[in-house]
Amino acid sequence: MAGPRPVVLTGPSGAGKSTLLKRLLQEFDGVFGFSVSHTTRKPRPGEQDGKDYHYVSREVMQASINQGEFIESAEFSGNMYGTSKAAVQEVQSQNLICVLDVDMQGVKSIKRTELNPIYISIQPPSMEVLEQRLRERKTESVESLQKRLQAARVDMEISKEPGLFDVVIINDHLEDAYEKLRGALLLEIQKVKDAERA
Ligand code: ADP
Ligand code: 5GP
Repeated sequence: MAGPRPVVLTGPSGAGKSTLLKRLLQEFDGVFGFSVSHTTRKPRPGEQDGKDYHYVSREVMQASINQGEFIESAEFSGNMYGTSKAAVQEVQSQNLICVLDVDMQGVKSIKRTELNPIYISIQPPSMEVLEQRLRERKTESVESLQKRLQAARVDMEISKEPGLFDVVIINDHLEDAYEKLRGALLLEIQKVKDAERA
């Protein structure tokens, strides 16, 4: 029997993907599993290797990509990011809903695969709010902040393409955004819970 459908979460850096995802993983422990991506960027304070990302050098990552170990990979804001086949298999082998957090290039690549996920876009209420949130997060250098804002402008433009996403959530008030995310996934959540009981 096919396992539950994966979920792809995307949206500009700073839109609130990690914040919403953390809540979802906490509330539904044993239902969702996070696909741990690889990246060449440095860990932020509090991030853990193997939990938030697999932190690797560009050489190691490129070699793994060349070996065909990745479903997709992309260059974002001066660093490489990618989803390994092993990361997704690790979650799916436990019959959990696999959640991927990827940028727009990742979405386009995944659309060409057999993964068949639910595509959810998390959008900020405005560019001004996005910039404020990114600044207040205090994780980016001046240069990185500008690169992310530029990528966000492109992302928000492409996101208008009709049919690209199954669900679009504007993350204005966190509680409302979380309720929408939760609501969009309740059917899949129920399927996992039913399968557990069967
Ligand atoms: P992403 O994972 O999309 O890059 P984050 O989850 O890190 O974004 O959120 C960016 C910043 O905005 C974080 O500091 C987070 O605490 C804050 N944030 C997220 N959602 C909201 C919200 N609805 N209202 C206010 N601040 C928020
Ligand atoms: P951050 O550095 O803020 O953690 O992530 C930057 C961007 O990279 C975000 O838009 C995030 O969704 C994206 N990202 C994280 N992991 C992957 C991945 O495996 N593949 C792709 N294509 N993008 C990713």
